[in-house]
Amino acid sequence: MRKITVPEEIEKKVKKDIGGCVVKLIVYLIIAAAAIYIFFSSSGEMLDFKIKVVSIIIAVLLGIGLPYYFSGLHLYFTDKSYVGRIIEVDVKDVKISKTFRERKREAGDSIQYVMVEDDDKKLHTCEIYDDGRIYSSRARNYNLGDTVVHIYGCEYLRPMHHPDLEKPQVCVVCGFKSDPHAEKCFECGRSLDVRVEEK
Ligand SMILES: [Zn+2]
Repeated sequence: MRKITVPEEIEKKVKKDIGGCVVKLIVYLIIAAAAIYIFFSSSGEMLDFKIKVVSIIIAVLLGIGLPYYFSGLHLYFTDKSYVGRIIEVDVKDVKISKTFRERKREAGDSIQYVMVEDDDKKLHTCEIYDDGRIYSSRARNYNLGDTVVHIYGCEYLRPMHHPDLEKPQVCVVCGFKSDPHAEKCFECGRSLDVRVEEK
């Protein structure tokens, strides 16, 4: 396994994101608990004992499961940093509705599907949305055979080019392509100093 060095500010950003998810989770749990309480205190006498027990169990499971899912916290438990090679690239043109377009920050009209085989031969698939702007095109940054690195908690894969090759650097946080010599991302200002030990 190759060693990945992640800039401190990226690690801090991920920790902050996780903190945000925890706050969301707590808020959703409070809302769910209040809803369950109001429902059972108002309809308590009408329900038969067995039905009441079963429905309380279902309500509690949903009241924990749904807030957990919607907080996005589960994504951080299944995520891991890795280095791998792109073994499949597919660009699909899609009709993106206006609401979806707004949600994905002016997403363009294509999604690039990238499949990566990591050093442990495990496969990962990623979807990269084009943002529709000419210079910041986030999709189409990835080519078959590229070595890429994924950083825990970050959305974008970073192609790791040989230092002699003058290729733009892709930001792991926002996916923006910056100048080969840039130290910070032109778009979000975060460090581009992600390093991977050569094999
Ligand atoms: Zn960036």
